[in-house]
Amino acid sequence: MRPTVPFVHGLNSAEGDLWLEALRAAQPSFDIVLGEQLTPAQAEQAQVAIVANTDPAELARLPQLKWIHSLWAGVEKLMTALPHPQVRVTRLVDPCLTNTMTEAVLAWTLYLHRDMPRYAGQQAKRNWQQWPVPLPSERVTGVLGLGELGGASAARLAANGFEVLGWSRSPKKVEGLKTFCGDEGLGHVLGRADIIVLLLPLTPHTMGLIDQQRLDTMKAGSSIINFARGAIIETDALFAALNSGRLNHAVLDVFTQEPLPADSELWAHPNITVLPHISAPTNKTSASKQVVETISRWFADGTAPSFVDALQGY
Ligand code: NAP
Repeated sequence: MRPTVPFVHGLNSAEGDLWLEALRAAQPSFDIVLGEQLTPAQAEQAQVAIVANTDPAELARLPQLKWIHSLWAGVEKLMTALPHPQVRVTRLVDPCLTNTMTEAVLAWTLYLHRDMPRYAGQQAKRNWQQWPVPLPSERVTGVLGLGELGGASAARLAANGFEVLGWSRSPKKVEGLKTFCGDEGLGHVLGRADIIVLLLPLTPHTMGLIDQQRLDTMKAGSSIINFARGAIIETDALFAALNSGRLNHAVLDVFTQEPLPADSELWAHPNITVLPHISAPTNKTSASKQVVETISRWFADGTAPSFVDALQGY
């Protein structure tokens, strides 16, 4: 008999149905049933679930649950919603999403590298003025977070000719990058980079990491791109750094409150580019394929996926 895997989500029903369709189209070796449509016997027996924006109470209905597969790459909210600590979490790793993120990192790094915000401002004033165009090799980029997304993005920046400094929690050796870790390493990267890209998970250690003190250590006239989570940067400190001219520009794709409220001051700041969380949208077809393959492997031969470290929170 095919096992049943609940799909427990808090998405709107149209979006949930599209995901269900994509997951079923990925030809799972198991039956996928919406959480609310599970029979008591199916709920009692479920060992693995697929989740997205899940209400913890829904997971508490699954007493045999061993692990859950998130449809998203970032799992900070999910880690606080687990019904009991034994339930382990796998987050989405999808080469298609990784490639989309590297494309976004390159695109918005080039946006800053080629001074596009300045030229947009000049155009609004009908001002014809040319500025020097440095070579990519003359620009230092710093990528904070060298995991699935940050590592690939750093490689793409390096392939485009930028000098790349990378920062991670544990020491790393990556060809083509100068890598750093620890507080001292962060200070070095912030002090040298012209463009900083954030691709860290949100954890108790990274919450508010880019605060006034760290912004003060950033290279004068540098810019920052946040594609990770809004709460990693302290907004008031960012405003102060942009207003004082110490920081040149911020590209923000993620915010502590999303959608960004209409009355947020971030919208109108001349040195902030606001994006509506679009740097790397999850592609339903490719993500479903990854999720279904991972769960099918586990049912077939017990191969465990790589789980989020509950202690580290990522
Ligand atoms: P990942 O594979 O888990 O990698 C995380 C990286 O951050 C690792 O290199 C890790 O260091 C480093 N790190 C974690 N805590 C740290 C700390 N305290 N100090 C220094 N480095 C630390 O994560 P990922 O797949 O690359 O994704 C990163 C984040 O991107 C996600 O958590 C999510 O929030 C965000 N995201 C955003 C979008 C979007 O559309 N904007 C889309 C997808 C994901 P080690 O290598 O030493 O472990």
